[in-house]
Amino acid sequence: MKQRPRVVILGGGFAGIYAAMELEKAVGKGEDIEIVLVNRENYFVFQPMLPEVISGTIGILDVVSPIRRLLPRTDLHVRDVEEIDLEKKVVITSPGFRPHPHVIPFDHLVLALGSVTDFRGLRGLPEHAFPFKNLGDALNLRNHVIRALDEASIEHDFVREVARSYPSLDPREIRIVLLHAGERILPEGAESLALFAQDILMRRGVEVRFKTVLEAATGDAATLRGGETIPTKTLVSTVPSFPHPLLEALPLAKGKNRRLLANRHLQAEGRTDVWALGDCAVVPQVDGTPSPPTAQHAIRQAAVAAHNILATLHGRPLRTFDFKGLGKMGALGHRSAIAELPGGIKVSGFLAWWIWRSIYLVKLPGWGRRLRVASAWTLDLLLPAELVQLKLGGSLGVTQEHFEPGQDVFRQGDLGDRVYLVMSGQAEVWRSVDGVEECLGQLAPGDWFGEMALLNETTRGATVRCTKAMDALILPKSEFSVLAANLPDLRRSFERVMEGRRGAAGRGGERRGS
Ligand SMILES: Cc1cc2nc3c(=O)[nH]c(=O)nc-3n(C[C@H](O)[C@H](O)[C@H](O)COP(=O)(O)OP(=O)(O)OC[C@H]3O[C@@H](n4cnc5c(N)ncnc54)[C@H](O)[C@@H]3O)c2cc1C
Repeated sequence: MKQRPRVVILGGGFAGIYAAMELEKAVGKGEDIEIVLVNRENYFVFQPMLPEVISGTIGILDVVSPIRRLLPRTDLHVRDVEEIDLEKKVVITSPGFRPHPHVIPFDHLVLALGSVTDFRGLRGLPEHAFPFKNLGDALNLRNHVIRALDEASIEHDFVREVARSYPSLDPREIRIVLLHAGERILPEGAESLALFAQDILMRRGVEVRFKTVLEAATGDAATLRGGETIPTKTLVSTVPSFPHPLLEALPLAKGKNRRLLANRHLQAEGRTDVWALGDCAVVPQVDGTPSPPTAQHAIRQAAVAAHNILATLHGRPLRTFDFKGLGKMGALGHRSAIAELPGGIKVSGFLAWWIWRSIYLVKLPGWGRRLRVASAWTLDLLLPAELVQLKLGGSLGVTQEHFEPGQDVFRQGDLGDRVYLVMSGQAEVWRSVDGVEECLGQLAPGDWFGEMALLNETTRGATVRCTKAMDALILPKSEFSVLAANLPDLRRSFERVMEGRRGAAGRGGERRGS
């Protein structure tokens, strides 16, 4: 029996989902094809509304739709794509319950894996910057912001108790700084709208800084090119965005920013059975310039790709991607937005915000989600913002942190809550006695520190200050205690180090911790 042609779609974002939707419509009309979609999550994320999740205007689940419900005729594999073999025409996905990978052969392959946020090579960003791309990022950031506000208000309560007359947390004390390497924000839109957005942000107290490049990050500060530091506990970075590493390894032509080069039929250059669309591809527009990485372009590319896959299967002529864009919109919060509509009409403020909401509400897939979001927006007019911090539990385990020269890793008198292992860089140990600071020694790669306060259940006996950009592995107290209790040799070796340090501290020795 002849097998049905199989179209395998990689990625369940705007490009992948809408390509599958178009193919499903054809199946509904009698087309005899098999559609397989592989996506990491079993839901589709409506990314344009992610900022509203952070502000708490809508619920976390309001921006996602289960893919199975959106695509009832598609065979969904909730897996990670691990390998693509274009020669053998197979895709290999990660193991599921059973420990063996899954091999999916294809006749046509749709590459729609989007882009990835990649902080590699940027000092301290992998450890300390919050990316903002998917639902998990939005949830983490929201939790973190709520935690930062909670912490700030606790500190104030403390101060109030001491000083008896401190006002509660003052919104003016919350500092938001927007760094931008270019000369104006939203360079892809009309200048007048960008200036409007800029003006609104500034009037709300956001410090907007142009031609400013972030060079490094620590848990306490952002370091700018030129050396200036901005103290912060919350650093969000939406750049840089890279093409998917899986696609980089493929023997296919790449364009700007190493994205896959597609032609106006959406075929990956040089192939008739591989289609590249969405943020992972460079798709030429009518005027030859590459399509911007937006949802509206991904959706239109998906429709053309689906049409052309079927046309290829039946030997019919292919369509070209002629979409010119419907305009640009951006919400600015507080019921304000900017919009550049078809025909060059520019709108800003409340009217733009209303248009923004109406359009995105209609674009949300499925009536159920539209109803949920519409009611959340209505309730938002009446109720205060949601402040619940959704902790998902679990231990943090071993983490990594970056420190810049001059930064204190911890200070004398702090609570001992973790142990550190220096991976690279250097630090010094300083102890203050009667107001006089004394350097007790240096810490270099391979040195542990911070264990004394944990083993002795006391506060930090000294300050550790970074002297040369340092990366350290960090073991939280709970994990360290479990290891020390169950591995007697480990505990003994730490105790020996501790004894040595105590002795050295007495003699004013060289390499000591705290
Ligand atoms: C916060 C935010 C707001 C935005 N606002 C707007 C807006 O207002 N208007 C607009 O037009 N555009 C907006 N965009 C851009 C728009 O969301 C993207 O252009 C669009 O999502 C691109 O679609 P895509 O399918 O190419 O990629 P994505 O939507 O990123 O989808 C890629 C999919 O591939 C999956 N995937 C990746 N790697 C693997 C793997 N190895 N195995 C399995 N699955 C994998 C991912 O899980 C994801 O589901 C916004 C983007 C963000 C992040």
